[in-house]
Amino acid sequence: MTVETVNPWTGQVEYRYAYFDATETEARLAAAAKAFPAWSALSFAERAAYLERVAALLREHSGRIASIMTAEMGKLRREALAEVEKSAGCCEFYARQAEAYMRDEPVATDASRSFVAYEPIGCVFAVMPWNFPVWQVFRFLAPGLMAGNVALLKHATNVPRCADAIAEVLALAGVPEGVFGVLHIDNDTAARVIADPRVQAVTLTGSERAGKSVAATAGANLKKSVMELGGSDPFVVLDDADLDKAVPIAIASRFGNAGQTCIAAKRFILTPGIADEFVARFTAAASALAVGDPNHEASTLAPMVRSDSRDQLHAQVEASVRAGAKVLLGGAKGAGPCEYPATILDGVAPGMAAYSDELFGPVASIIRAKDADDAVRIANDTAFGLGASVWTRDTAKGEAVARRIQAGAVFVNALVRSDVRLPFGGTKASGFGRELAEHGIHEFMNIKTVYVD
Ligand code: NAP
Repeated sequence: MTVETVNPWTGQVEYRYAYFDATETEARLAAAAKAFPAWSALSFAERAAYLERVAALLREHSGRIASIMTAEMGKLRREALAEVEKSAGCCEFYARQAEAYMRDEPVATDASRSFVAYEPIGCVFAVMPWNFPVWQVFRFLAPGLMAGNVALLKHATNVPRCADAIAEVLALAGVPEGVFGVLHIDNDTAARVIADPRVQAVTLTGSERAGKSVAATAGANLKKSVMELGGSDPFVVLDDADLDKAVPIAIASRFGNAGQTCIAAKRFILTPGIADEFVARFTAAASALAVGDPNHEASTLAPMVRSDSRDQLHAQVEASVRAGAKVLLGGAKGAGPCEYPATILDGVAPGMAAYSDELFGPVASIIRAKDADDAVRIANDTAFGLGASVWTRDTAKGEAVARRIQAGAVFVNALVRSDVRLPFGGTKASGFGRELAEHGIHEFMNIKTVYVD
């Protein structure tokens, strides 16, 4: 089957390619299985040398890779360049840290000696989304390769050249054939790959819908899985918040990457003493954003990824407005095929799509709480549990609120972001398992107990 990708800014067909046939898919599976014994037998220093080279090559090729990202999914060029840099940093981090994360851990028991050993498990199959098409891949790949695993990637259908560019960088770095393979396949073939005995585990970053399907296939085949799914992060602003700090971060969080970020602040939950001032300053700042050519340095808001995603977001806005939300800014489709303006909805309340659903685009929901306790209740009144932030000058209070919010990460007075040194993942419908830090590298390892009497 031939697939066409469309440039979100121009609306023109960007690239045509064909899904792999059974022979090509089989060749990649066989290559991964063949590569695993030698790759996992290398020393940490040998694997680290490959990863350091990958980091250097990512930087050398960042301009070209950023151009592909922008053409395929519309990311602002400066955001694309920053993403490539972050991916290079992730390779360096694991090249330098993995050995410490995988040292044997002695444990005092009745044995003369007992310890925990960390061993690679084999081939990890990754199903990845288009919104951070390079970072999401390195987030699983860098720790996985340092662990001694090999990897296969099924990237989102609309970013095939991003997937190929990553494979090219690894090949240029001399990473042996089969250690990383790209599969251009559809979702039915992906299910067969999960079931294949040469694949030991699956990691998915994407929507709840995709997570349910892939986790079900993994479960049916007794394969370990990690699910990084959607979110509707609360941004809780308490009466004593520093708005000089909170408002610019609210703008960056909600409107960066055209609002298509799992850990974007999506629900702005405000206590009465600060709500009006926050809304006035947030709306003024957001009104300065304009959708522009993502290749131009002056553009402040990217187009959305696809016109159907834009239409779906607009339908959520319209349904919320019909249910009583008030449009403070934006709220109408732009002229370009994937254009959607910075939009702010006030008076968002239970029963509205903007309250309960993930808005995967540049639309902010303003929810007014009665007091701080009510703000925490609203923050938790969601199916999701990925990230959250709390804004208050009283950091002890911020920490106390952080402990009460059901999420994989809560940031006090800071932008929710992934950091290689900290674990990343969700609770509730945002998924399970962790990526990054020590926790991430251990997800796809055999945590082996050795007991010597
Ligand atoms: P998506 O439609 O779920 O796609 C993600 C990946 O899953 C793509 O490669 C897609 O392939 C694949 N896929 C979809 N259905 C599948 C199935 N039944 N079997 C196998 N693979 C399947 O998600 P998206 O729209 O691209 O991404 C947006 C979502 O991802 C949002 O909900 C966002 O919050 C979430 N996300 C979460 C994180 C996190 O770390 N928690 C990070 C980024 C994004 P095709 O393209 O071929 O359909």
